[in-house]
Amino acid sequence: MGFGLFGGRPKAIAPLSTSRPLLLSSANPDKVREIVEIFVVPGFHLVPRPASMPEVDETGATLIENAFLKANAGAAYAGHGALADDTGLQVAALDGAPGVMSARYAGPNATYQDNVEKLLDALVDIDDRSATFVTIAAVVMADGRAWSAEGLTTGVIADHPRGVEGFGYDPIFVPDEGDGRTLAEMRAEEKHAVSHRGRAFRALVDLLRAETL
Ligand code: IMP
Repeated sequence: MGFGLFGGRPKAIAPLSTSRPLLLSSANPDKVREIVEIFVVPGFHLVPRPASMPEVDETGATLIENAFLKANAGAAYAGHGALADDTGLQVAALDGAPGVMSARYAGPNATYQDNVEKLLDALVDIDDRSATFVTIAAVVMADGRAWSAEGLTTGVIADHPRGVEGFGYDPIFVPDEGDGRTLAEMRAEEKHAVSHRGRAFRALVDLLRAETL
């Protein structure tokens, strides 16, 4: 039995007759799963990025540029509104790296594990392991109106990976507002409550409700 177009929970994608579509402009299924869980706003429903839509080159110098590159490309392709996020992990002892390069930290075709290993290697013998996850969530409407919101989570980089939930750098990120577990040791709802993405998309929901309802 299927569970809707995203293969996940059906609640966020069942359109009301009056609701407007927003294309979820992301090619990362891990991110899509989280956004579908977090972004629930009356009057809108998310639709998946069609497989035929070309990948968006993330050529921006900042997270906000990349978030809008993806949201604008989605809106142009769909002919209706679209939303996207761009996320970076900023490590204090590395002057904010990997930052906007988080997906490609260990190279253009790096896996999550490659990136985690490179980061752990870079922090060997470094005492200051503080880091911040930053997400910019962006939405663009067909008429050109656009909004964005930022979400931050501060924490420390663990000595070694722990946990199997989440994705990316989650196994080595211990949020300050937790009990010592990494994000990959938390249930999805626990991660969303303190996560950069949870905060950014909840703020975007508030903006949309205030501006459009
Ligand atoms: P981008 O926003 O697609 O450029 O993602 C950048 C990279 O950051 C991803 O490839 C992941 O490695 C990592 N990343 C993004 N969001 C998360 C998250 O919520 N937890 C852990 N890593 C993440």
